[in-house]
Amino acid sequence: GLKCGIVGLPNVGKSTLFNALTNAKALAANYPFATKEPNIGMITVPDRRMDKLVELIGPRSVVPTNIEIVDIAGLIKGASKGEGLGNQFLGNIREVDAIIHVVRCFVDDNVVHVDGSVNPVRDKEVIDTELILKDIDTAEKRLDKAKKAAKSGGKEELRVVDHVTKILAHLQDAKPARSCDLDDEGQAILKDMMLLTGKPILYVCNVDEAAVITGNAYSEAFKKAVADEPAEVILISAGIEADIAELESYEERMEFLSDLGLEEPGVNILIHAAYKLLDLITYFTAGEKEVRAWTIRKGTKAPGAAGVIHTDFEKGFIRAEVIKYNDYIQYGSEAAVKEVGKMGVEGKEYVVTDGDIMHFRFNV
Ligand code: GDP
Repeated sequence: GLKCGIVGLPNVGKSTLFNALTNAKALAANYPFATKEPNIGMITVPDRRMDKLVELIGPRSVVPTNIEIVDIAGLIKGASKGEGLGNQFLGNIREVDAIIHVVRCFVDDNVVHVDGSVNPVRDKEVIDTELILKDIDTAEKRLDKAKKAAKSGGKEELRVVDHVTKILAHLQDAKPARSCDLDDEGQAILKDMMLLTGKPILYVCNVDEAAVITGNAYSEAFKKAVADEPAEVILISAGIEADIAELESYEERMEFLSDLGLEEPGVNILIHAAYKLLDLITYFTAGEKEVRAWTIRKGTKAPGAAGVIHTDFEKGFIRAEVIKYNDYIQYGSEAAVKEVGKMGVEGKEYVVTDGDIMHFRFNV
């Protein structure tokens, strides 16, 4: 499954957000280092289409997809050199598919800021610097290895040396690897290097309740500062999320949100942004036994999509029966869709689209 890590300076609202997202009960306190263990939580991916299918079919079980969230605390200035609790957590970052970087865009004199004032652009640079320093170490080692291999090897190794040299220079220029301009081969090498700043990133501006729709001067300055990065930026109020998480019923939550002028909770906004960032889409399997959502990368062909369910489905793939989501809703059932001839029978080259209801045929 998809795994995201939350990073940010101490006291920016990471644990508050993490707790609200996962409803876990980790500690949120008004001083640095309240969160000492990397906390792991699962969040369910909300999907209105799936709710509709469930309404129509009334299945015995419903299985949404999940995202694993890791709260990676303790990143501070000097973390790459082992300061604070940072270094041990850099390893946790290496394992995630995407990074959620929370920056503080709220003013509250009761909440200590580690650097004395609210300044999300500076805060982001502090974190970036630590990750970049670590990446420089990694890239230097990779370059040594590539150079050795190039001595005895051929052209391919020389090209690796070129790409890694370029990435290293970019990092030494204090820029995150994700903004390095590389061709496909270079991108593949970058991915293989598992650099911390090579990961897709989603910035969360944590704002006060009053600024959650409009943003504020801090979040505006921040958006400008990251405009050149291939990244998503969203506004969330961790405080609102925490309040929502305490409400028992769905109705209460929705009423609370609409009183604030919001259509959906921040967790939904965050998940949608993560899906967009990672180019992910959802397809469904639907029957009386079970309605289930599956996550795949955009552009995945039918056998690859089947492989998410089981590798045997991919290996023995014969064909897929596909119903477009809108057709399913319009005609109301699989049988009705079949009757009007709208069920597609697709082969290995079919590219699955968002919302498809799939049924795979395969050899075992
Ligand atoms: P972390 O160190 O980044 O995990 O930060 P925490 O989640 O522990 O938050 C630090 C303090 O800031 C806590 O006292 C929170 O209640 C408070 N806090 C978090 N988000 C907000 C916010 O949006 N507005 C205000 N005023 N306080 C917040």
